[in-house]
Amino acid sequence: MSKTGNLSKSSGFATRAIHQGHRAADHHGALNPPVYMSSTFAFETAEQGGEIFAGEREGYFYSRISNPTLALLETRLASLEGGEAAVSASSGMGAICSAIWALVEPGDEIITDGTLYGCTFSFFRESLQKFGITITHVDLTRPAKLEEAINAKTKVVYFETPANPNMRIVDIEAISTIAHTVDATVVVDNTYSTPYLQQPLSLGADLVVHSATKYLGGHGDLVAGAVVGSAELIQHIRLVGLKDMTGAVLSAQDANLILRGIKTLELRMERHCDNAEKVADYLEGHPRVTKVYYPGLPSFPQHDVAKKQMMRFGGMVPFEVEGGTAAAKRLLNSLDLITIAVSLGDAETLIQHPASMTHSTYSPEELAQYHISEGLIRLSAGLECIDDILADLDAAFEATYSADTVAIADRRFSTTKPEKMAG
Ligand SMILES: *Cc1c(COP(=O)(O)O)cnc(C)c1O
Repeated sequence: MSKTGNLSKSSGFATRAIHQGHRAADHHGALNPPVYMSSTFAFETAEQGGEIFAGEREGYFYSRISNPTLALLETRLASLEGGEAAVSASSGMGAICSAIWALVEPGDEIITDGTLYGCTFSFFRESLQKFGITITHVDLTRPAKLEEAINAKTKVVYFETPANPNMRIVDIEAISTIAHTVDATVVVDNTYSTPYLQQPLSLGADLVVHSATKYLGGHGDLVAGAVVGSAELIQHIRLVGLKDMTGAVLSAQDANLILRGIKTLELRMERHCDNAEKVADYLEGHPRVTKVYYPGLPSFPQHDVAKKQMMRFGGMVPFEVEGGTAAAKRLLNSLDLITIAVSLGDAETLIQHPASMTHSTYSPEELAQYHISEGLIRLSAGLECIDDILADLDAAFEATYSADTVAIADRRFSTTKPEKMAG
């Protein structure tokens, strides 16, 4: 709280994450905002109800459109992303679908990078193409490619940066400038960075989408999403995309958990980044690791673009190991502390295999085309003590490659046997 609940833009990130939008005096002095568990809101008169419905009077009326707990979360997210307004949703996909459906019509084109979260990729391919919207995949890490592809039908330019799962970095400012030459709406999925590390709206993007399931919630106990942008765009997404098209409304209980989560976002992100940097250094120095994709490493091809637009480089560390997919799976199975699970941004360090899990929506050809290697492992650095994370990785590498030696010996035995018999 703060006395007014309305902090100036110059207040620091953590201060706004903790106080913005809550005035205790409006809630019997409650330090923590109450949770409004109410689907509907009573009108004092029939006339008043009619006026609120007509938009002639401010007021809540039904929680699919708005609710005071959701409104507080939305105020806070808008402040953190530097946007005028935000709308929350029941999942990241709910937020993405509500935003995109509200922006396009049959005949329109959406340009996206080919590397996307697996379900966003299949939403574009399966769902939108069915309804007459053209999806064109362009390598957005090269702005000149967008310049060639963009045209009067392009209504949306959509990307993630860093992209899930391989950390490709898109230059938000350069892409936004090109997209705006045809008035396309630039939508950036900022799930990996969170507003603490990167604020796409300040670099020219029109909308930011989030899976709040990840770092914003931060504790692995809910599924949620949000869209942030101008008041006008957000109102359209709320009243058309979310209210009528997807109905993907967030619950007040989950909004409350996200409000709790974002109070510590700054602290958590600093620790996620610290741990990820150390894991990336460890992996880069490991003789069995063939590739590490961490934008904070000077060896990362787009390190300079990442440095320009991100404050730090986030908590995700994808890598490849010697021996491809089979060795990758043995490594996952050999871990003890680090948990095999999809999702990311939790307190627990998580690890998964994109080709068979989060990105199994891609065909093998699409995986190859969009730079997602079959053997890629994706690690989400948690908040544990770094020594324990590294010790677990160390033991798993040891087990993986001693097993490899055994497997090679086994194979040799079984192939030489028939020869001997034949001989
Ligand atoms: C998880 C994720 C999503 C989807 O969010 P849900 O909350 O699972 O619906 C979208 N984009 C990115 C980058 C993600 O990691």
